[in-house]
Amino acid sequence: MARGRLIPDRVRIQSLGPEERLSSFDEYLMPYTREMAIEEAQRCVQCAKPWCNLACPILQDARQYVIQISEGDFEGAVETILKDDMMASCLGKVCYSYCEDVCVVGKKGDPVAIRHLKWAALEYGNGDRSYKRESERDGAVAIVGAGPAGLAAARLLAERGYRVTIFEASHKPGGLVTQTIPTYRLSPETFEEDMRRLESLGIEYRYGVRVGADVTLEELLQRGYDAVFLGIGTHSPGVLNIPGKDLPGVFIALEFLKRVMDGERPVVGETVAIIGGGDVAIDCSRTVLRMGAKKSVILYRRTREEMPGADEEIEDAMAEGVDIRFLVSPVEFKGEDRVESVRCQVMELGEPDESGRRRPVPMEGRYETFPVDSVLVAIGQWADLEAFPDLDLKTGRDGSILADPETSGTSMEGVFAGGGPSIVHAMAAGETAARSIMEYLEKKAAPTTAGSPP
Ligand SMILES: Cc1cc2nc3c(=O)[nH]c(=O)nc-3n(C[C@H](O)[C@H](O)[C@H](O)COP(=O)(O)OP(=O)(O)OC[C@H]3O[C@@H](n4cnc5c(N)ncnc54)[C@H](O)[C@@H]3O)c2cc1C
Repeated sequence: MARGRLIPDRVRIQSLGPEERLSSFDEYLMPYTREMAIEEAQRCVQCAKPWCNLACPILQDARQYVIQISEGDFEGAVETILKDDMMASCLGKVCYSYCEDVCVVGKKGDPVAIRHLKWAALEYGNGDRSYKRESERDGAVAIVGAGPAGLAAARLLAERGYRVTIFEASHKPGGLVTQTIPTYRLSPETFEEDMRRLESLGIEYRYGVRVGADVTLEELLQRGYDAVFLGIGTHSPGVLNIPGKDLPGVFIALEFLKRVMDGERPVVGETVAIIGGGDVAIDCSRTVLRMGAKKSVILYRRTREEMPGADEEIEDAMAEGVDIRFLVSPVEFKGEDRVESVRCQVMELGEPDESGRRRPVPMEGRYETFPVDSVLVAIGQWADLEAFPDLDLKTGRDGSILADPETSGTSMEGVFAGGGPSIVHAMAAGETAARSIMEYLEKKAAPTTAGSPP
C-alpha cells in the first residue's frame, strides 16, 4: 500500500495508436489489467474528507471503491459502485470524472485514474447483477425520455415499487448517450450492460411516442398516471444565422452525429471544418476523420484556455490529427452548389463575459478564409420546450431544462422535470425528481384528515 507516500505518475492507460484508431469506429481505450488497477488504486492517499465523492453529482463513493480495488476486492468495488451508479459501465468509459478534478494526488502529479478504475472494477468484478423491486405500491409514473435522467428516475421509482412507464420519442433507450456519443468512445454493448441490470425492475418502455405531440401531459395525467417526469435532454441545436447556412455540405452537428450513429455515412469530402469548442465539436472532428476526411479543423472563436471541451478529448483529437484554429468566428459560408469555404472574422479576447470567460471581440477589417468540403455546426443545444407551451419552463446556461432546484417541480401539479450537461448531472437530476415524486405520491395516498373527528 502506498498510503502516506505520494506517487505522482498514474499507471499508463493503454490505447490503440492514432493510425489504428482511425481505421474503425471501435473503442480505442483499453481497460487496466487487474494488476495495473491495483497498482493505480494504491496511489490513492485516502483523504479523510472524500473530496472525490463530494465532487460527484450522484455522490458516488469513489474513495471506497478505490480502496477496495487497492486491496484486490473487485467484487466489493462493483457492489459499492452499483449502489449509486446505475450507468456504471458507461461512466467507467465516458464520465467527465469531476472526482479526478479535485483529487488531492492531482495537486502534485496525475490525479488517481478514478474513472478508469471503475471500468476495471466492472471488468474484473461481476457486474452482471440486478436491481430489486420492493413490494408493489399504489401509484403510476410516466417518464418522458429514456436518457440518463429518465432512466435514473425510473430506477429509483421502480425499486420503490411504483408502476413506471417510459415514453421515448426515438426507437431506443439511452438518449444522447446512444444517439450521439461515438462508438469509438463508448460501444453500444457497454450501454446494454447497464440496461440489463434494470430488467428485473419491470419498467415498461413505449418507443416512438413524442409526448407533447402524440400525447399531451394533461392526457397522461388523465389516463391514470399520478405524476410525470420530463427528462427530454437537449435536442434542439443552435443554428448559425449567417449567409450560406442552408448550402449543401453544411450540417448541424447533433443531427450529423445521430445519422452516423444510425449507420449512415453522409458524404463529407476531404476537408471538414467544425464550428464550436465543446465536446460535440470534438466528437465531430474525430468522427469525420474515421469517415475518410483527410483534414479536420475546428474553428473556435476564443482560445484553448476558454475551450469548454474536456482536456482529454481535445488531446486525443489532436493526437489523431485534428487541427484547431483559435480566435476565428464564421461570418459566411460560401459556395455555388455546395459549401466551398468558410469566411471568418479574426477575433481577440476582451473583458470576461457573464460566463466568466474572456469575451471574443472582432478585430476590425481582419478576415481569414478556410477552403472546405463540408462544415459541421456545433454551437450548443437546448431542451426543446415548444411541445410544452403550458409549462412555465426555462433552460439553463448549459441548455438543459430548469425546474425547481429543490423539488424538480414545474408550474403544473404532478409534473416534474430535469436534465444536465453530463451523464452524471442528468442522473442526479432524475434522482432528485424521483425522490420528490415519491414524496408527492405518498402525500397523495395518505388519507386526508381534514374534517374527520379528532
Ligand atoms: C456528442 C455528445 C457527446 C457527449 N459525451 C459525453 C461524455 O463523454 N460524458 C458525459 O458525461 N456526457 C456526455 N454528453 C452529455 C450527455 O450525453 C447528456 O448530458 C445526457 O445524455 C443528458 O441526459 P438526459 O437524460 O437529460 O437527456 P438525453 O440523453 O438527451 O435523453 C433525453 C431523451 O428524451 C427523448 N425525448 C426528447 N423529447 C421527447 C418527447 N417530447 N417525448 C418523448 N421523448 C422525448 C429523447 O429522444 C432522448 O432519448 C455528450 C453529449 C453529446 C451530444
